[in-house]
Amino acid sequence: HLQDTVTLNNGVKMPGFGLGVYKVDEEVAVDSVKAALENGYRSIDTASFYNNEKGVGKGIRESGVPREEIFITSKVWNDEQGYEETLEAFERSLEKLGLDYLDLYLIHWPVKGKYQDTWKAMEKLYNEGKVRAIGVSNFHVHHLQDLMSNSKVKPVVDQVEYHPHLSQEKLRAFCEEADIKLEAWSPLKKGRLFDEPVISELADKYGKTSAQIILRWDVQNNVITIPKSTHAHRIKENADIFDFTLTDEEVTRISSLNKDDRTGKNPDSFD
Ligand code: NAD
Repeated sequence: HLQDTVTLNNGVKMPGFGLGVYKVDEEVAVDSVKAALENGYRSIDTASFYNNEKGVGKGIRESGVPREEIFITSKVWNDEQGYEETLEAFERSLEKLGLDYLDLYLIHWPVKGKYQDTWKAMEKLYNEGKVRAIGVSNFHVHHLQDLMSNSKVKPVVDQVEYHPHLSQEKLRAFCEEADIKLEAWSPLKKGRLFDEPVISELADKYGKTSAQIILRWDVQNNVITIPKSTHAHRIKENADIFDFTLTDEEVTRISSLNKDDRTGKNPDSFD
């Protein structure tokens, strides 16, 4: 199930579940990536901003899992945006990862006045076959509308903060209509959701942990999810969510915990 894929709007298949490595040091990233791949994960989410692309690449090589079985995402950081800058940033990421192509490359944040040129560079990389799919992160509906009305290639995903306290219903509906997959960052709200009574109650009911209930809610909402952990037992635990199903009513109960509460910046006031 960890290798179950969703089909992106350009036909490329992406695992619906993966490992995030934000705030993971280079050396620790080697082991986290290996632990994930050993436990069946086939998707890794990094970024130039995380300063661990070398470690991620090393983990992939040491795992012995063939490159073509792994889906690797990286992102262009804010101070790397612009047309030429993005082309250069992409080559730096590839070199650090030790790869000759990426599966997915994302604009990390919609930097005002720049993300349009950044996207033109992403389209070039995509058309040249250096990356199998391109997408965005932290884009509101208005950013997506602006991007799509001024470009040829549609983003395949929008990776945004998404968890039961920020369920992004409007963005989710827009993306569904536009055939852009929503991908959840901080799906566990960085560990700050485990005391929610509804979630603990469901954890008891299914004999699962709160983390597993939340990640199962992502899967049932068709949201791609990339929880982070550096501990092998939690990496394994987070992936063990394919042997139970929440009822529709339970999914709705979790969704109704929404309070539009962000742990990160609002994309409109960040750059
Ligand atoms: P997360 O919501 O995945 O939470 C991770 C934290 O939750 C861990 O550090 C740990 O403290 C805790 N945790 C994880 N599994 C647990 C378990 N089974 N039991 C108990 N505690 C557990 O937070 P995140 O790292 O911010 O987000 C996940 C990934 O999303 C990142 O690693 C990164 O790849 C991506 N991300 C992207 C952006 C962006 O702007 N695009 C921003 C933040 C994160």
